[in-house]
Amino acid sequence: AKATVAIVGRPNVGKSTLFNRLVGGRRAIVEGEPNVTRDRIYGEAEWLDRTFNVIDTGGIVPRDSDEIKNKIKYQAELAMEEADVILFVVDSRTGMTGIDQEIAQLLYRTNKEVLLVVNKVEDFSNQQEISWEFYSLGFGDPILISAEHGKNTGELLEKISAEL
Ligand code: GDP
Ligand code: MG
Repeated sequence: AKATVAIVGRPNVGKSTLFNRLVGGRRAIVEGEPNVTRDRIYGEAEWLDRTFNVIDTGGIVPRDSDEIKNKIKYQAELAMEEADVILFVVDSRTGMTGIDQEIAQLLYRTNKEVLLVVNKVEDFSNQQEISWEFYSLGFGDPILISAEHGKNTGELLEKISAEL
């Protein structure tokens, strides 16, 4: 079966922007269980001679912060079940947050491959500093990208491919 990559993280870190960058126009129309699929978008990405499925999560953001946490938790759990590789996305502009640490706690329990992706890095002059900050999440060296500007996304695809 084709490998699956799931994108998880708190709202506004750039998951959907990354998803669109990875899948381009290859967004799937999925007819499935509405409760499960409504908040998840499926697409397909290609890198060199490989194709893999990509899942974007967390499209519906509840207003209440407890509800947001529950939702993220649920999405992370589904990702751990469904995906072969999990892209855990954080935001270099806001820095690390409590919710990022809670997501990390959940992801420690999986034996799936987790790649930590620091998004919104447009200025690579302080990449050492950014890497240090997020290194403490415990997933090794983060991959710094700008999903919006397509910076370093080729390297990310390469790392994903190496795990598939
Ligand atoms: P999601 O909630 O995690 O799916 O985040 P979105 O993809 O909807 O992006 C949230 C906001 O961050 C939007 O305003 C995006 O334009 C912005 N954004 C996403 N990626 C980048 C990036 O690489 N650099 C910058 N500066 N902004 C970004
Ligand atoms: Mg989104």
